[in-house]
Amino acid sequence: MSWYTSANVTFERKIVVGLEEIRAISFECHQCKSRLTVSPDDIRDIPAACPHCNFPWRLPEDPQAVSAGSPPKNFAFGIKELKIRFGADVIGFKILLEFDEPGRHAL
Ligand SMILES: [Zn+2]
Repeated sequence: MSWYTSANVTFERKIVVGLEEIRAISFECHQCKSRLTVSPDDIRDIPAACPHCNFPWRLPEDPQAVSAGSPPKNFAFGIKELKIRFGADVIGFKILLEFDEPGRHAL
């Protein structure tokens, strides 16, 4: 059995996308690597455990979090916090964003 890790994958080209181009948000289990994929329009909540293996997905309450009334700030700062403090090894899952393949309709 070989273990797959995406830690060393880097993008060679830069892709700029708007939020409306996010087709899906995936939550990848840190334990079994299975993914739960939802449309950003349909998202309600993040499960408290992996639907596949029941590995706990911890959703930390951040005492330093910015006001809940400011989604743009929460989003921007949330990305930083997820990268620095709330990696998959900490919260039990990884957040992945799925985009349409770029360049088809641009240019
Ligand atoms: Zn799992």
